[in-house]
Amino acid sequence: MKIKSSEFVISAAGESQFPVDGLPEVALAGRSNVGKSSLINKMLLRRNLARTSAQPGKTQTLNYYLINGELYFVDFPGYGYAKVSKSQREAWGKLAERYLRDRKPLKLVLQLVDLRHPPSADDRNMYAWLSHYGIPMCVVATKADKISRNQIPKHAKIVRQTLGMPGHVPLIVFSSETGQGREELWSLIEQAVEI
Ligand code: GDP
Repeated sequence: MKIKSSEFVISAAGESQFPVDGLPEVALAGRSNVGKSSLINKMLLRRNLARTSAQPGKTQTLNYYLINGELYFVDFPGYGYAKVSKSQREAWGKLAERYLRDRKPLKLVLQLVDLRHPPSADDRNMYAWLSHYGIPMCVVATKADKISRNQIPKHAKIVRQTLGMPGHVPLIVFSSETGQGREELWSLIEQAVEI
């Protein structure tokens, strides 16, 4: 995928603010600090379009990024942040649920997990929840540069087993530092959005 343009479009607090142009959407979910902003920046070859380590868990909005005028990345708020109140957690759930259930242009969900550690209970719940909607999904295991190459298959296997991923759900090993997995992830996205 050749990136010709990328721009932040809107921080949508609800359905009324979602784009109405019908362009395909790829949603990204993951716990705070997993490397979601870094992945977006790496995929779009931008240094600081998505803000890294923005206040975790504070804003319950979906951030839309338009790419080449032909598809959107939709960044979910990070989950699993301990300091989030119960009401914030509920607001997150409602927004995310409505989006996943009803959003027609949604073509693919990327769930990010940290390759270094077995997925957490939050990760497992999120995976089960996303699978439930039957939307095509892919797990992206981040921060691959932080473990040695020969340990990667072992870690990838633990991620698959802990989440209970069936063989047909892709797992992409990714690093925002080295760009490992970037091309593979773009091909998967291109297939899913059919561009
Ligand atoms: P977010 O909260 O999910 O958006 O996570 P960020 O993108 O802000 O990343 C959290 C921290 O992890 C930052 O200090 C990043 O520099 C670091 N980080 C993210 N991705 C990678 C990666 O692939 N490799 C390494 N070494 N560090 C990463």
